[in-house]
Amino acid sequence: MTISRKRAKPHFPPIYMNDTLIQEVEEHKHLGFIRPILEYADTVWDNIPIYLKDKLESIQIEAARIVTCATKLCSKSNLYNDTGWVSLSERRSRHKIIKFHEMFHDQAPNYLFSLVPQQLYQVYNYNTRSAFNVQNMNCRTTFYQNSFLPSVIREWNRLPQDVRYNPSKFTLKNYINRDTKKVPTYYNTGCRKGQILHARLRLNCSGLNEHLFQKNIVLSSLCICGQVESSKHYLLECHNYRLIRTQTISTLPIYDIPTLLSGSELISDEENENIFKVVQRFILETRRFGP
Ligand SMILES: [Zn+2]
Repeated sequence: MTISRKRAKPHFPPIYMNDTLIQEVEEHKHLGFIRPILEYADTVWDNIPIYLKDKLESIQIEAARIVTCATKLCSKSNLYNDTGWVSLSERRSRHKIIKFHEMFHDQAPNYLFSLVPQQLYQVYNYNTRSAFNVQNMNCRTTFYQNSFLPSVIREWNRLPQDVRYNPSKFTLKNYINRDTKKVPTYYNTGCRKGQILHARLRLNCSGLNEHLFQKNIVLSSLCICGQVESSKHYLLECHNYRLIRTQTISTLPIYDIPTLLSGSELISDEENENIFKVVQRFILETRRFGP
């Protein structure tokens, strides 16, 4: 793809790779292109002001909105929960720990390895639990205190000793990623439209009156039938959709609201997939959110 500001399109000779002509295209999908830019060398600039951190974070949040099709009303924590993504600031602190692990175990260039301060027992002859802590530096300014070495050493000393002393990066990554949620594969069940409407219910940002009312967009949270129009009311109770419900949701073996919206760990992926399909069929057939 040629990118140019010139009005007359510049002519370039054809490009061959391994004797194959590279096709010229008008558009191209850049997968996984954006985040590396937001994180370039992020171990060294994590001490930037909070307003700049927020600015960066908002780019990833916007991407999460595009992926889930959640509306502006959806909270950041719900978006991260639904995509299984980790915030950029959390990713930066993980990158710093991984970098320091390389330095500590002499797996980094010497100019980095030589920056690692001694451990307390090497300096003071300590024989306590903290003896294996890396000695932190004296910081006179907050700016320096938040810079790479002082901040990462504080985090490092909090890690369990067996993780610190294990030279395997695999063990370290397993430890620091231990709470990262994996998004179930059945979240991708169904057609895009069904997925979007289903996700919006799960994320409390659907067009149901209760969700709109919570964000001050409508004056009442009531359904046209007079009850509060919550996800539970819509999926399980509202009389307006009784017939569609008997052919869809009521046929399911389990239909509590958390399972209908997010699935359940107690049943198989196939069973969850089936529940998702049925719920989406209900949502589409009721036409509650448009034709
Ligand atoms: Zn109703």
